[in-house]
This record gives sequence, structure tokens and C-alpha cells, in this order.
Amino acid sequence: MTSQRTRDRLVARLKARGIQDTRVLEALRMTPRHLFVDEALSSRAYEDIALPIGHKQTISQPYVVACMTQAIMFDDVPKKVLEIGTGSGYQAAVLAALVNQVYTVERIEPLYRQARLRAMRLGLRNIRFKLSDGVMGWEGYAPYDAVVVTAAPSEIPSALIDQLAENGRLVIPVGESPGSQNLVLLRKVRGCLEQENLGGVSFVPLIQGMVNT
Ligand code: SAH
Repeated sequence: MTSQRTRDRLVARLKARGIQDTRVLEALRMTPRHLFVDEALSSRAYEDIALPIGHKQTISQPYVVACMTQAIMFDDVPKKVLEIGTGSGYQAAVLAALVNQVYTVERIEPLYRQARLRAMRLGLRNIRFKLSDGVMGWEGYAPYDAVVVTAAPSEIPSALIDQLAENGRLVIPVGESPGSQNLVLLRKVRGCLEQENLGGVSFVPLIQGMVNT
């Protein structure tokens, strides 16, 4: 159930659903999603569905991971990418297969620890993890060529726009409730923002502040 054939089948499905960037498809083919979920769920890891990862959070659906990743790809691959909402660490691992350096922020400590451990075990050395409120971004390494947000706020946090490099891209689900969110792509062009709507999605909410604070 976790074999290369099963993974190839998932990639074929993503292609059929409209993911065209071969770099993105290859990154998903290479990333062992079954190692980012609980062992009891590993047989379902290559189905195109979101799965629970504990703490009322989910690992995103592969199609959505592919869409978001494709949205930040340029002719030149972005070098530095910030992800908000580490969760299982799967999206970060997919990005790490494509870009030079990934910075990822999570607010729930056990998820942060587990994702960091997974990356270490998989030898993914180009991901830096931070336990923090991602609404503030990660100022220390800004600006970023791209920002990927995998939890939905009702409005785009201004710090994330500020930390985006010139010509950078920000992809983020925006909306009050899971049934009414849109995936939004922002591009910073000569200091101005261009916005594109990529369609309806369903993400867990982006929650301001740390857990227990
Ligand atoms: N990218 C993840 C999907 C995680 S689900 C993956 O590939 O598995 C969204 C994650 O965003 C959850 O882990 C949740 O705890 C986290 N999150 C929500 N609000 C946050 C915030 N303000 N700062 C950082 N992480 C946040």
C-alpha cells in the first residue's frame, strides 16, 4: 500500500486533475507521505484525501499540496520559502525537494517536535523549524521568495506580506469557515500586490497566538 506503484498512481491522478508542473509531480512522487501520518493510517496515505494528525489538525490532501506548490513555482524555482502551519511536515518536505531552504512555523509543540524529528530521520537538512505564532511570520530570515500558508485566516496577516520579497508569491487559504474559503495567490510586483483566486478549499483555521497562552 505504500509501494512506488501506489505513489505513481497518486501522481497520475494529480496529473489527471490538472497538475502540470513536472517538478512538482516529481517532488510528490519522491516524498513518502506514509511516514508523515500515524502508522494506523499509512495504508491510506496515497489516497488523495486529508488525514488526521492529532490535535484536531490534518495533513492536507495531496492535490491541494500540489496546487499550492505549483502556484509558487516560477520559471526559476524560488530559493527561500516560508511555510506557516508545519503540521505533519509533509508540505515542508515536498518544498524541500524543490527549493534551497524552507522555513516552517508551527504553534502546537508536539506537532513541531514530531515534524522536526521526521525531517531529521529522512535526512532533510534544508528545513528550519520554529515553534511560534505564524501570524507574525519569521522575521529573522525575511524576505522570502515565496510564502505558503496551510491554515486559513479570515484576512491575510500583514506581516506575511511585509516579509515577501519583490516578485515574491504568497499562497494562502482565506475565509471564515472551512466551507467558504478561497485559495488566494498574491504576487508582489514593483511594491504592488496582484491577486488571483485559485478556487475553493477547506483548511483548518489559522489561530492567532500560541497554544495555552
Ligand atoms: N502543512 C501541514 C498541514 C497542517 S494543518 C502538513 O503538510 O501536514 C495546519 C497547521 O497549521 C496545524 O498544524 C496548525 O496547528 C497550524 N497553525 C494554525 N494556526 C497557526 C499559527 N498561528 N501559527 C503557526 N501554525 C499554525
